[in-house]
Amino acid sequence: MTRFAASMAEHREELVQLDTAIGDGDHGTNMDRGMRKALEKLGAAEQADAGAVLKTVAMALISSVGGAAGPLYGTLLLQMGTALEGKDDVDLETYTAAWRKGVEGVQARGKAEPRDKTMVDALLPALQALERAPDLDSGLQDAASAAERGMLDTIPLIARKGRASYLGERSKDHQDPGATSTYYLCQTAAETLAS
Ligand SMILES: [Mg+2]
Repeated sequence: MTRFAASMAEHREELVQLDTAIGDGDHGTNMDRGMRKALEKLGAAEQADAGAVLKTVAMALISSVGGAAGPLYGTLLLQMGTALEGKDDVDLETYTAAWRKGVEGVQARGKAEPRDKTMVDALLPALQALERAPDLDSGLQDAASAAERGMLDTIPLIARKGRASYLGERSKDHQDPGATSTYYLCQTAAETLAS
């Protein structure tokens, strides 16, 4: 989560630009601010396990990030946190189950299907890569690569969910900002957790 906060700070302007093209331009500032708040909360109290860490971050994002990103990232991490509650050692099976819970939560909340041009287009390929992986290290790497491909595959799509869907055809030829921040989450996970 510390590395993800650094990634959101680093990519803040890129995410602002992507969201300015097809949304209201707040995605980079929202994610950066939300993750700063999350780190403050994490620093304030000892966290029992990985589940507690993710739940603390989720609550910080839900309470400090407006628009769709706060509730959706909050749901993703809250569901993952619930799945990882009490787990000290996370193996491929546990990690994959946590992502599955998270992705299901995001889809239940946002009602986005694949190819709607949303964060689901990076989340689902990442989950599918984890489900196929032989071990946790390759799973983390494959999930990051799959999320990146999913992110790039949003470029030609016409948005069917979220603010970008108001643009209709004009949302084509732009990369989805939510899928982009999701790729950075997967990239961070691979860099941090793979041995
Ligand atoms: Mg926005």
